[in-house]
Amino acid sequence: MATDDVKRTQDGAQTGAEAPAGRNFIEQAIDKDLSEGVYDHVHTRFPPEPNGYLHIGHAKSILLNYGLAVEYGGTFNLRFDDTNPTKEKSEFVDSIIEDVTWLGADYGDKIYYASDYFEEMYDIAVKIIRKGHAYVSDLTAEEMRAFRGTLTEPGVNDPNRDRSIEENLDLFARMRAGEFADGEKTLRAKIDMASSNINMRDPIIYRVAHLSHQHTGDAWCIYPMYDFAHPIEDGIEGITHSICTLEFEDHRPLYDWVVKEAEFEVPPRQIEFAKLYLNNVVTGKRYIKKLVEEKIVDGWDDPRLVSISGLRRRGFTPSAIKKFVEMAGISKSQSTNEYAALEYCIREDLKPDCSRMLAVLDPIKLVIDNWPESGDDGQSPYVEMLEAPNNLENPGLGTRMVSFGKELWIERDDFMEEPPKKYYRLYPGNEVRLMYAYYVKCTGFEKDENGKVTAVHCTYDPETKSGSGFEGRKVKGTIHWVHAADAKKAEVRLYENIIDEEKGVYNEDGSLNLNPNSLTTVEAYVEPALAQAKAFDRFQFVRNGFFCVDYKDSTEGKPVFNRIVSLKSSFKLK
Ligand code: ATP
Ligand code: MG
Repeated sequence: MATDDVKRTQDGAQTGAEAPAGRNFIEQAIDKDLSEGVYDHVHTRFPPEPNGYLHIGHAKSILLNYGLAVEYGGTFNLRFDDTNPTKEKSEFVDSIIEDVTWLGADYGDKIYYASDYFEEMYDIAVKIIRKGHAYVSDLTAEEMRAFRGTLTEPGVNDPNRDRSIEENLDLFARMRAGEFADGEKTLRAKIDMASSNINMRDPIIYRVAHLSHQHTGDAWCIYPMYDFAHPIEDGIEGITHSICTLEFEDHRPLYDWVVKEAEFEVPPRQIEFAKLYLNNVVTGKRYIKKLVEEKIVDGWDDPRLVSISGLRRRGFTPSAIKKFVEMAGISKSQSTNEYAALEYCIREDLKPDCSRMLAVLDPIKLVIDNWPESGDDGQSPYVEMLEAPNNLENPGLGTRMVSFGKELWIERDDFMEEPPKKYYRLYPGNEVRLMYAYYVKCTGFEKDENGKVTAVHCTYDPETKSGSGFEGRKVKGTIHWVHAADAKKAEVRLYENIIDEEKGVYNEDGSLNLNPNSLTTVEAYVEPALAQAKAFDRFQFVRNGFFCVDYKDSTEGKPVFNRIVSLKSSFKLK
């Protein structure tokens, strides 16, 4: 039979598309459970395996589980699903706690560890053996595979399937005591080798593995399998709704089997939803891990990654991630979301709160040849202070004074020697507005021996000062600038996606298909106030996007700015 045959639909659940307005299918299922008295409260959990850093997909799971607990006045647990000692590290535990906390998911006073339940899990396994519902097998992994059958053919019974309960109890105790080598014995659930669902064909529930565990040390040399451990963890904690992703749908009958065999008073219930995938970036833990391990990126929190720590370092906010996850919605069918939607959310989040500052990322000198040598009071060189609003949409953020004088830095691409049609910025003979300042007219430029423009010359019109009410003539272009006399140099990092999944994750030779332009570092000139910026401060740089001060590489008075997102968007809200 086809895999579809073993897929069951969730009782009372509908797909996201059919859900009544405002209630997703998980909420509907919970509503039903509560109204029928299956549960009288809601208790959810986020159960990461500490084998890597969390990413944007996990954020969806965290916010979904936490959000449901809040919505129903229930409880939310953070539980480390640390039953597999091979890949787990305490570094990952620490980073996960930091990320969950940063996202605002309040897990209360206690963090749970699946490994704390090893003794209970063992006891439950013994209980199941006593019922005659589990047995110790001598099959090797290869034999096990061969006996399992296929989608179209039933499996073959294990020769040890009918071992006596006494013998099974004795062997299982000896497995725990360390009498057997890795792989020599397993404990199998006695379910049905002919089941249409392969997961139900006497799955292994315990294996021998002489491994040190980061939490329990050398106390154990047998470890429970995920499908056995997870429902028990849920049951022990009193979880009501065990929400997981779609790949576990076919495992649900086994989940229910374990819960039943363990005889929990209030059995937990598993509900699956579709994973979050982002277009154009890699979200999979194993891809991110590879980039980190091969040192292609600067650690798990490299701002090019969609790990939660990477997004945080890049300058994303928890509220933008929350908004994105809500926009993506909860569904039972697989789909992908646009990276541009995430960018839309952070832009919307930052727009009202960030100060709009002056920074020139690709600087070229602009010289105002008719700028006065000195002011009326003899001040020389002559400098004017101009008022700049901090945020056009949020007047509450006030204004600040910026200095202006004879020599300025402007963006290189705001000047062209030979402009194309509809180019309204500086070119010989053209006049533009310098933001917050005056009209200037381009009078000439200088080039070096390679033909590269090194400076642009202009004259200004004193009548045209911004805010003076000048209405004599209009100009089509406005460009930004910083005053060369007091501008500070700053490192600015511009990003593109490191791997574009749409273009293929791998090259033909099996190497990763990396975008060579994923990181561009420029030396910018920024207005002096920015030199005082602290780690995680966020700003809008006029015309260039939103930026965040890098917490790792910035030093006192020398901030490094990461571009969070540019201002332009290709994303349309549906
Ligand atoms: P692994 O392949 O190592 O198991 P994982 O991404 O499933 O990786 P877990 O630590 O097992 O990592 O995940 C913790 C929880 O996050 C699980 O409940 C899992 O279903 C959920 N989760 C993982 N990836 C996504 C995703 N892309 N979207 C939504 N939820 C996810
Ligand atoms: Mg997993």
